[in-house]
Formats: sequence, C-alpha cells, structure tokens
Amino acid sequence: MTATVSALLAHKDAGALAIGAPGRAWLSYGELRALAGQVEADLRGFGIGAADRVAIVLPNGPEMAAAFVTIAQAAVTAPLNPAYQEQEFRFYLEDLRAKAIVVPAGYEGPALAAAAPLGMTILRLHGDPDQPAGQFRLTGTPAATPAATPAPPGRPGPDATALILHTSGTTSRPKIVPLTQSNLVASAGNIGASLSLSPADRCLNVMPLFHIHGLIAAVTASLAAGGSVWCASGFDALKFFGWMKEAEPTWYTAVPTMHQAILARASRNRDVIAAHPLRFLRSSSASLPAQVMLELAETFRAPVIEAYGMTEATHQMTCNPLPPRAQKPGSVGLAAGPLVRIAHEVENRLIEGTGEVVISGPNVTPGYEGNPEANAKNFFEAEGRRWFRTGDQGALDDEGYLRLTGRLKEIINRGGEKISPLEVDGVLLDHPAVQQVVAFALPHPKLGEEVAAAVVLREGQSATEREIRDFCASRMADFKVPRRVIILDEIPKGATGKLQRIGLAEKLGLGQP
Ligand code: ATP
Ligand code: MG
Repeated sequence: MTATVSALLAHKDAGALAIGAPGRAWLSYGELRALAGQVEADLRGFGIGAADRVAIVLPNGPEMAAAFVTIAQAAVTAPLNPAYQEQEFRFYLEDLRAKAIVVPAGYEGPALAAAAPLGMTILRLHGDPDQPAGQFRLTGTPAATPAATPAPPGRPGPDATALILHTSGTTSRPKIVPLTQSNLVASAGNIGASLSLSPADRCLNVMPLFHIHGLIAAVTASLAAGGSVWCASGFDALKFFGWMKEAEPTWYTAVPTMHQAILARASRNRDVIAAHPLRFLRSSSASLPAQVMLELAETFRAPVIEAYGMTEATHQMTCNPLPPRAQKPGSVGLAAGPLVRIAHEVENRLIEGTGEVVISGPNVTPGYEGNPEANAKNFFEAEGRRWFRTGDQGALDDEGYLRLTGRLKEIINRGGEKISPLEVDGVLLDHPAVQQVVAFALPHPKLGEEVAAAVVLREGQSATEREIRDFCASRMADFKVPRRVIILDEIPKGATGKLQRIGLAEKLGLGQP
C-alpha cells in the first residue's frame, strides 16, 4: 500500500460506518470516499494544488473530522484553534503561508479579518444537520469563483506534507511541525496495533481536533482500522455520559484533566457505565497520576491504557499493552512504533543511560519548519539512523516499560537541588481531599526557585494549606515540600487541556520573587 491517507481509506467496506455525531445519521466509508473526491475537485477548481496549505478553522465535531481527512487526501491541512483572536490568527496564517482557509458557512469571526489582507482564498463549509454526520460542501467567497487557472490534478505522495501543527507551547513558543502523509499512516498504524483496533471499534472523541492527539489517535487511527469515530462538540463532563449512551463507544481517549473531570461525575452515572462497557480507556498528552489511573480502571471496570505522545512524533511513541500484559501505573508503557532509547549522542554513536528519551522511526517529523536552530539541537544521526531528542526525561525498566520523570525544562531547581514536579504531584494526590495538583517553580530571591503547588480539592472535601503541607512533610524530604500550596477552584490550562507548569507562577500572580 502507498503510504498516503487516501490509500489508507481506499479499501474499506463502503457500507461500514465511519463518522457519527450527536443526533446525526452516520456517514459511511463510501460516502466519505465520495466526499474526498468532491473536495479534491473543488480545491483544484479553486486553484489549490497538492502542495498548497489549507488552514481549517472549524468548531469541534464531525465536519471538522471529515474536513481534515478529506482535505488531507488532496492538499496540506493546517487545523487552527477556532478560539484564537485576530492577532493570533494573523500570526499563524502568515507563519503557515496558508493559501486558503476553511470556515463555517455563516462565520464572520476574527479568522476572516486576519485572512483578508493576506489575499487568501476563503472557503465556506456548509454542513446540514439532516445529512449524515460530517457531510459538507465547499463554496468560495464570493460564491463559487473557481480560479482562472485550476490547479493540476493528482493526489499528494507519501513524502508530501499532509498536516502542519504547532507544538502546544508548554515549554516555549510553539514550533511549526510539518507531518508527511507517510508519518500519518505510520502513526495511525502504530496506534491501531497497540490497541488492537478493528472495524468493531468505535471511539467517542472529546479531544480538540486542532491538536495531534484527537486528529491521529481518535480520528485517523479509527478510520485506518476500518472502525468508527463519533465526534462530540468538544469536552464536556456534564454531557459525557449522555454521549456514551448515544454513541455506544468501545473506547475513548483523553488528557488526564478530562479523565479527572469524568471521574468526578462517575458516581451518579454508574448505570450508564454498567450498560455501556468500554473495551479500554486511553490517556495521553500529559502524565496520568497512578491514583487516577487506578480509580478510572476500577470505576469503568476496563483497562486504562496510558500512552506517550507528542506533535513531532505524529502523536504516539510508547503505549501500555492491553491485557493479558500489565498496564503499569505511572508508566507510559512500551515502545509502540518508533525505537525508544534513553541516550545521548557522541560522535554519531548512541551512548545509553543518560536521562533523555530519544526516538527514531517513520512517524517522526522530517524537522521543524523555518527553525534551523531547533533542528540542529533536536535531531542527530547515530548508528545509521536519524534520532529526535524529545526533551523528556525518563527511565526504562527491565521489561522495557518507560517511566517519564519530567521534562528537562520543567525540573524545579531549588538552589541546585533538582526536584521533579511529578514526584511532588504524586505525593499530594495521596491526600484524601486532593483531586488535582500541579507542582511548579516559584521564583525565589536566594534559591532561584522554590517548590509550590496549585491544588483543586474534591467536591465536598476541605483541607487547609497548612494541613496539606504537613501531609507532604510527613512523606518527603523537607526541600521538596511545597513552600506554598494554593487552593483553587480550577487550575489554568493551555488550549489543548494540558496543565502548564511553566508560567503558572506568573499566571497566579506569584511571578515576582
Ligand atoms: P512545546 O513543545 O511547545 O513545549 P508540548 O511539548 O506540550 O509543547 P505536545 O507535542 O502537545 O506539545 O506535547 C508533547 C509532550 O507532552 C511530551 O513531550 C511530554 O512532555 C508530554 N506527554 C505526552 N504524553 C505524556 C504522558 N503520557 N505522560 C507524561 N507526559 C506526557
Ligand atoms: Mg514539546
């Protein structure tokens, strides 16, 4: 098979269900293929060729999923967070050199104001609630003005860029990551193999579709396996159990903060959980505390599969195995596609043993765009292969399970004493009143940094800062005990739902020593 998205979807059973959504009929694989053909013809008619970049600014849902998988078969997709303001859109659209932008039919928001001066083609997506989920047609603005010179026909090959995303910006300014057709196919295959996905599987997608996790694990991996994906409008813990009833999924994938919000509502939805058993739950994109994993597994009576992913790897790098093999709490599992080593490079040799996770495989991006410094720093050649430095620290156990110990950039440096914020999180989560925690560095005039923690308490529970600190002091060395514990209703998150340690002190007004 040619490693392209269109080849991936070419031989699926035409009548099988592909994309669903709340209150909508299902879109079949046959309809999805017909839609891809129509989208390709439309794009060429508007002068958009296989190498041109199409920004996609759509709310989460079936049209977004369908726009991504169909446009990716004909051109370069660049999904953007629809919540951006005009200035942010201007930055991304310019940075991406997008030739066209897809917006909802009635959209009049800031993306258009940003796109207009850049001379981009505006494509409007018309969905119809009476049509199957994800079915749409495209028109240009003003209505249907096909280009004077249509773009040449032909679908992109395996090495063509299929998807461009920015990294989440957790540790620095977001970097542009181009991912090829073959990167997408490799990663979807890796995820399908890890989870034994089949046509019988159905994913309930709650992840944002402008981020690699939802695009690849929920949408592309499901379709690559011939299974189905049911696209919710975005994460909502209040609606989650209603969606489970309607969609009848066999699995879902989410970031830990979402799993925690779901757990908080689980006790009043035991009947739904019992009536709609899941084959497994998947967690990725941030560390899943062992306590949360165990509580999820017990609540859903299903294995919780934690995986380790990043934008540059087209999402997945490692994954815990399904039963009968063990899912180790606190571990991100076994290499699941790329080679995974803890090593650094000296004169083109890989020296094993130091703390950084490095990877090599067909799912890894060819390199950051327009960022030679980052490429020089993060990619290297060794043992005849090209390797990528993840910036994450970890260790492999005897059985090959990877445990992440932190991000190189997030380590709290207390006067030279290095403290893993993950370790502090783990201790605080053992406190019976603590629901969620993010340990972070607080600027300190003498030590440089000091440990602090933001905490959300469980519903109906109470605890004071003092009690929580005393609890920590009884369980860890004094230098690791948070000097401040800030109790909040909600911890600020990034756009993808990830908790951001870096910059948290500043966000909470604690930035100045
Ligand atoms: P930036 O690179 O711009 O700082 P980011 O790294 O957060 O942003 P992503 O590509 O969305 O952007 O996230 C990848 C990172 O998320 C990984 O490098 C790792 O630090 C973290 N991560 C992913 N999965 C897990 C996991 N299961 N456990 C712990 N950390 C994880
Ligand atoms: Mg990163």
